[in-house]
Amino acid sequence: MDDLKNNFDVDNKIPGKDITNEDLQSKFPLAAKKHSKHKTIIKVGNHQIGGDELIIFAGPNTVENKEMIIETAKQVKKRGAHFLRAGAYKPLTFPYRSSSYFELREKGIEYLKEAKELTGINIITEIMHIEKIEEISSVSDILQVGTRNMQNYPLLEALGKQKKPVMLKRHYGASLRDWLGAAEYILYNGNPNVILCERGVSVTHTHRSTSRFLLDLQVIPAARDFTHLPIISDPSHATFWADWVPSMCYASVGAGVDGVMIEVHPDPKNAATDPLQPIGFEDFSEVMNKMNKIHNILKS
Ligand code: PEP
Ligand code: MN
Repeated sequence: MDDLKNNFDVDNKIPGKDITNEDLQSKFPLAAKKHSKHKTIIKVGNHQIGGDELIIFAGPNTVENKEMIIETAKQVKKRGAHFLRAGAYKPLTFPYRSSSYFELREKGIEYLKEAKELTGINIITEIMHIEKIEEISSVSDILQVGTRNMQNYPLLEALGKQKKPVMLKRHYGASLRDWLGAAEYILYNGNPNVILCERGVSVTHTHRSTSRFLLDLQVIPAARDFTHLPIISDPSHATFWADWVPSMCYASVGAGVDGVMIEVHPDPKNAATDPLQPIGFEDFSEVMNKMNKIHNILKS
């Protein structure tokens, strides 16, 4: 802990917002880094999240049908993704559903299973309900907690008591202190495998009317200072704008993430949910190439 003391000025703290020495010792001692080299590596299949490799989670926002999820699984795997991401249970902002705006729930989980069996790709999908943990973990290698559930403490406690690694997205209004407090719930309940995901925060302006959030790149080195947990970035949800996704992927790698989550869709403009944010397969290949180059430069 000693070598961490210089990372922040305890006397200059903003109570309740920034991290203090006391927080590291008594509010989230399990999430806190114990020494400067302390880093958790989470093994999933053949991959190590938090290790030397940049881990890529790619796929559509929503499992839309069997064909598209299988096609996406094949394409993103071929182009270097380690995980297929896609929502079956979706925290959609408004309650209305239609033939073009929907979630497939159980059927979506079944299609993810088929995609996994056919391609061998690892799966990450969102969990919202405690009672769905068993169903979703029968397919999903990592359970994703969405931004809107970051402080759903009963869910976090339940996820702490099961074995699958958890990806905890940052709430779009949460400080790093609140985020690490939420991670601590999972750790405290017995699950040591928590991955943090920055996915954009709410601010007073975002540069274009269609962009809801701002990617907080600074939280990456900040999280590195205070926690041993792996941290990844999701530029798709942060920017809400496909044209900005590649540069924010490169910036995220530059900022030192352990992985990147990217929305990739076979036909981006016709995506059922959030059609402004996914990129297509060709663009994904280019982004993969450049991210890996940047990652290699920074590793050397
Ligand atoms: C998602 O990854 O599909 C998602 C809903 O993300 P977020 O919780 O960050 O909005
Ligand atoms: Mn989404």
